[in-house]
Amino acid sequence: MFGIWGHTHAAALSYYGLHAQQHRGQEGAGVVVNDGEELKLHKGLGLVNDVFKHADFQEFTGKAAIAHIRYSKHGDKNRAVDSVEPLVFHSRSTSIAIADSGNIVNGEKLREELEDNGSILQSATDSELLAHLIKRSKKKSNETAIIEALQQLKGAYTFLIMDQAHMYVVNDPHGIRPLSIGRLGEAYVVASETSAFDIVGATFEREVLPGELLVISDEGLKSVRFAMREQRRLCAMEYVYFSRPDSDLNQVNVHASRKRMGMELAKEAPVEADVVTGVPDSSISAAIGYAEQIGLPYEMGIIKNRYIGRTFIQPSQELREQGVKLKLSPVRGIVDGKRVVMIDDSIVRGTTSKHIVRLLKEAGAKEVHVRIASPAIQNPCYYGIDMSTREELIAANNSLEEIAELIGADSIEYLSVEGMKQAIVREKSIHQGICHACMTGEYPVPILDKREDPF
Ligand code: 5GP
Ligand code: SF4
Ligand code: MG
Repeated sequence: MFGIWGHTHAAALSYYGLHAQQHRGQEGAGVVVNDGEELKLHKGLGLVNDVFKHADFQEFTGKAAIAHIRYSKHGDKNRAVDSVEPLVFHSRSTSIAIADSGNIVNGEKLREELEDNGSILQSATDSELLAHLIKRSKKKSNETAIIEALQQLKGAYTFLIMDQAHMYVVNDPHGIRPLSIGRLGEAYVVASETSAFDIVGATFEREVLPGELLVISDEGLKSVRFAMREQRRLCAMEYVYFSRPDSDLNQVNVHASRKRMGMELAKEAPVEADVVTGVPDSSISAAIGYAEQIGLPYEMGIIKNRYIGRTFIQPSQELREQGVKLKLSPVRGIVDGKRVVMIDDSIVRGTTSKHIVRLLKEAGAKEVHVRIASPAIQNPCYYGIDMSTREELIAANNSLEEIAELIGADSIEYLSVEGMKQAIVREKSIHQGICHACMTGEYPVPILDKREDPF
């Protein structure tokens, strides 16, 4: 997500802000611009560039905007443009635009209640759910209605909400998804990832705190606490894989944390080998850390075709496998006759590792030892990362030996949960702390109702 308040080029800057976060989703993109009277929407399916190439930024005037990239979650594979955000809702007194990132775990239950009371929802988004809850509130102002609506939600959520006079910025009580605020001159800027600030020339101010609602208007910024602040539980997978290496999450640089994960992994799971290689792009940082710690050369044993998007994000297994094939090639001159340590950031289904081990062996590698710079993923994510069902998770159903055999590796080891925490969490406090439920099964927001578990 990206939002800006108080800048004459709000729409164009939103385009750049989304561009810097394209890796967070590739299914659709949209922006709503606010000129103080009207909320104007431009959205579509596809990449940011595709969606915005026909947008006329001269016409698209306004001093505030919120923007969003679509990344669909499990059970939410609606490919229609209806589910591309922001969504805009009009009522007699006000217009509201909403975009969200995360996942409301009691969404099904709330939908049932809304339907029983006569509401019909058109999209699969949490934003539409929130819009109905806001509308159902008897509170007079949008701010108080938003607070009442938020208090009914459980799960991981960040929202950008905009009416003609305000931008509202929300982080859930555990702060599971990242969201930061920055300044660009007089303007306020908000983004899921700080890489977006760098692109538009904004300076980072601070993270949006767990349980915090920021209300931004021409009068400035106001902070309201809509829920008790819980122990921070920032998604560990943001560090492991999802975020860009140049982003800072909770003021910890992503590349640096990945490198430390690689170093911890080398301490925990060393191996006799000749070269260390990584899987571009996401595991390069960890591979560099592993090599440095163990004292082996880091080499480009695998290169990536830069014109292919992220494979994981493709919504079906068939498309994913095809994507992996197009994407990576081994460098024979580097791996031929060698014992190779292959570092990847994570294994979900095992598709990538299996393919790469085969490529490396076909290119002459004598041995391939797989080292994974995160703990084994054994549980589904209910908080907005599309990680697949328990049945598909290779580590949920197989021992280490079985995994090694399935992917054709000579050995495999994962980083421990303690090692990962060492690499990410810089201090023990309520402000720092990570969610690692997909690895440990310790869910910060419990899944109590069958309707909350689509897996
Ligand atoms: P697999 O091929 O095992 O199903 O997926 C793991 C590989 O996909 C890793 O190389 C990782 O970099 C990449 N990947 C892409 N998207 C994701 C994601 O959302 N989560 C995780 N853990 N890995 C992902
Ligand atoms: Fe992130 Fe895993 Fe927690 Fe989901 S379960 S929020 S992917 S750490
Ligand atoms: Mg990868």
